[in-house]
Amino acid sequence: MSKGRIFSGMQPSGKFHLGNYLGALENWVKLQNEYECIFAIVDWHALTSQYEDTGGIQESIHNMALDWLSGGLDPERNIIFVQSQVKEHAELHLLLSMITPLSWLERVPTYKDKLQQLGDIGKEINTYGFLGYPELMTADIILYKADTVPVGEDQIPHVELTREIVRRFNSIYPPVFPEPQVKLSKAPYVPGIDGRKMSKSYGNEIPYAAPPDELRARARLMITDPQRVRKHDPGNPDVCTVYTFHKLFNQAATAGIAAQCRSAEVGCVDCKKQLAERMVEELSVIHARRAELAAHPVKVREILAYGAERARKLAAATMEEVRAAMNL
Ligand code: ADP
Repeated sequence: MSKGRIFSGMQPSGKFHLGNYLGALENWVKLQNEYECIFAIVDWHALTSQYEDTGGIQESIHNMALDWLSGGLDPERNIIFVQSQVKEHAELHLLLSMITPLSWLERVPTYKDKLQQLGDIGKEINTYGFLGYPELMTADIILYKADTVPVGEDQIPHVELTREIVRRFNSIYPPVFPEPQVKLSKAPYVPGIDGRKMSKSYGNEIPYAAPPDELRARARLMITDPQRVRKHDPGNPDVCTVYTFHKLFNQAATAGIAAQCRSAEVGCVDCKKQLAERMVEELSVIHARRAELAAHPVKVREILAYGAERARKLAAATMEEVRAAMNL
């Protein structure tokens, strides 16, 4: 039986954080054992909202490749590449745009939300490209005839739209594409140091590549149980960000830590120190691999070029079918 095929991508933001790692990359590292995986650094997607500021994009792409490879993505088993190096994404996006009713794009729930959010901070985002974001995502997925798309809850409407566009294509022209299925990931929700969702837009993130002293400093700033004012006040670990991180990095010790918090045996300062040392230990292997790769930028570029070459072969074959179906 052949393995299913997965496509997934991430925008190169240059600020890969522990939420991205624990909430997405760790899951990908598991998926590479079960599926044929295609992972793209989607730089064109980044332009849909950051078209004015492209100065740092090459550095962000390079950093994301370092993040992925050091986190355990295998460039042999998976196809890892940069979207803009495979021009077929643009061709398919254009052709799909001919058959997609505007109303389908306008009703995607994240579209209006994000339009408002970005508008509020003064960004002119009412562009053709921004509206077409899920159309480009559709092209990314079906260019490789991926049958499975691993997503979080909020991305389900995007995959639903992909399926609708596929059905429309296959009904107007001789069918080319399979309808991809959603695979809901059970990734953890990672809080930032202020207790809200960790996100680069909140400035509450812990960078994935943070050196030990920065990890310690970020742990010291984490918000704890606000009711626990003095060391001898009993605490409630269930509302404490530090405890959430203990669950992520220090699983074996969580029962003891919760008990020591409830009985006020251990104070927040020591609890944070314990956590920081666990994080430093756990991330040290990854950081060593990252530093090793960072010392060989040419090798990283070669890995991405190799991935693009393999992606291009699959993409070219699909586009031949598409052009034939459309009489182009
Ligand atoms: P950000 O919110 O920092 O802009 P992105 O939207 O670029 O992050 O997210 C990239 C990937 O990382 C997505 O798959 C997203 O679900 C995951 N992710 C981001 N932040 C978190 C978080 N705090 N907890 C779990 N997963 C997250």
